[in-house]
Amino acid sequence: MAYVTGLTRGKKEWTPQFVNAIDDELCIGCGRCFKICAHDVLAPKEVDEEESAKMFITVANPENCIGCEACGRTCKKGAFSFEPIAA
Ligand code: SF4
Ligand code: SF4
Repeated sequence: MAYVTGLTRGKKEWTPQFVNAIDDELCIGCGRCFKICAHDVLAPKEVDEEESAKMFITVANPENCIGCEACGRTCKKGAFSFEPIAA
């Protein structure tokens, strides 16, 4: 299958890996990924649990993702999954 590709500044072809999902069982809500993404893809979400509130990050605007994987690299919990998209 052919995937969407991009070009580096040196005109080298690469295959973007777009954010697919964040595992909310693994996410501890540290916010590192949210701070590093420059494309307004991720958003914090708070959920009320029995005696406390838990914050985690969601993929709010997947259409904005450029597939750079910076968010996944900053996540110490391995909560991200990525995939290329068909051309
Ligand atoms: S970096 Fe990982 S653990 Fe931290 S908020 Fe993002 S997904 Fe959650
Ligand atoms: S892959 Fe890049 S653009 Fe996409 S959500 Fe992660 S940091 Fe943002």
